Parts: sequence; structure tokens; C-alpha cells
Amino acid sequence: MPFRQVGDLRIFEFKSFSSEVLTHGIVTRNGGFSSSPWNSLNVGGGLGDSEKIVEKNIRRIFDALGRAIVSKYDVWQIHSARFHVAELPYEQHRADILVTDNPELTLFMRYADCVPIMLYDPQAQAIALAHAGWRGIVENVPAVAVQALTSTYGSNPANIIAALGPAICKECYPVGVEVVDQLKQALGSDTTHTIVRRNGNPHLDLWSLCEMLLHRAGVNSIESASICTATNLDDWFSHRAEKGKTGRFAALLGLVG
Ligand SMILES: [Zn+2]
Repeated sequence: MPFRQVGDLRIFEFKSFSSEVLTHGIVTRNGGFSSSPWNSLNVGGGLGDSEKIVEKNIRRIFDALGRAIVSKYDVWQIHSARFHVAELPYEQHRADILVTDNPELTLFMRYADCVPIMLYDPQAQAIALAHAGWRGIVENVPAVAVQALTSTYGSNPANIIAALGPAICKECYPVGVEVVDQLKQALGSDTTHTIVRRNGNPHLDLWSLCEMLLHRAGVNSIESASICTATNLDDWFSHRAEKGKTGRFAALLGLVG
């Protein structure tokens, strides 16, 4: 079972990541303090939910995963391919990729349909956490995340283990033709297999896009959760399926010191 129950929390875990070296989890919306439409484990600010409650939710998640709340390192996510090297002291930056080799830090990001990307290099003992929707993919978030590990910690992409978390699936994700045009322009025509037509409209396969871009960047080991956020609303927040009136779920990644 990819899900682990810790008290009231239900946490998705990848098979590829051993708990001896990494603490990680993609935390479902169950077991928090927020009321509808953020019910209940919302970690997103600026959505109308109480900031105090969001803080309580985040604290509960860190307790469940056994990480100190002071280790939390997050960013202001802006649908970009900007990366930031997480180091102490904490500073909040605008970015969608975080990398670190410091076991005292827990990388933390928020999602509702975009793809959570986790990277681990066992040789360099370095990690990356990223957030990729279509805008981030146009800017090649997967490759920039790999390059961030390469340039900062000397990682060899062939050593990197990648994992893709729950996100909106291709059946549930219609996009406009302008999105398709931007993707093809930025990433080349071999993206065609990642765009499917349903009822005459293009739909985007975010997982396939991430896999393709990770492969191109030299990563061979990729695990995908293959869980759709939009059709599993008991577990996940979905910006699309809930028409923007929803919360954000958390992904955490930290090295065990
Ligand atoms: Zn779906």
C-alpha cells in the first residue's frame, strides 16, 4: 500500500525512497482542522482559510512525520522554473524548485493539481522538491531541478531517483490551444504524445511531460504515483475539479541526518 496512516493523517509514500535516508510524504487532505471548502488539512495561505488554522495543520503534519517545525523550508510558489538553494538562515524566496543537502531542513511545498516532483541523489546526498503545472513545464521545471542538483552538488543525473506525486490526469485536464502552442514551441514537436484529444479538445498529460523532460535531462529512475487529484477528492485538493474553491495539500522531503 502506498498510503501510511499516522494518527488521523493519511500519507502517500513512494516505494523508491527508503525511510532510512529520507523522510518524505505527500499528505492527503484528511485529518486537519479546516472547514469546507478547505476541509480539512489545508496548508495553503491566501485562500480564505484562517492563517492560525493553516499553521495548526502544518504543525500536525510535521509532528506526524517526525520533523521539527523549525526545519520547514518553503517558497512562495509562482508557477516558474526558478530554483532556490535551501540554506540556513531561512529566507522566503519566489521559486518552484528547492534543493538542499542539509538534513536539518525539510523542503515543503503546496499543491492542488500541479505535479509534485521529488528528486534524490544517493551519491551526493542531495534532494530537490518541485512544483510543475503547465507553465512550469513550458519553462522545463524537471530539467532545471536536475540541473540545480548538478550545479550545486555535482550530481550525476544518472544517479538521481525521481518521483512524481498525485496530480490532475490527462482525462481531467482540458487546456486551450494557446497552451498546446506554447508547449510545442518550448519543448519541441515530440511532445505530441503528451497531448490527447477528447471531445475535440486538447487535454494535457502532465505526468508524461515530466517523465519525458526528466529522461531528456538524463534521469532513468522515475516512479509515478499515477493518482488523479480531480477524481479522488476524498484524498486530494483539486483546483480544477473544485473550481478554485479548495485548499492545498502538502509535500515534504528531508534528508535523515
Ligand atoms: Zn483524472
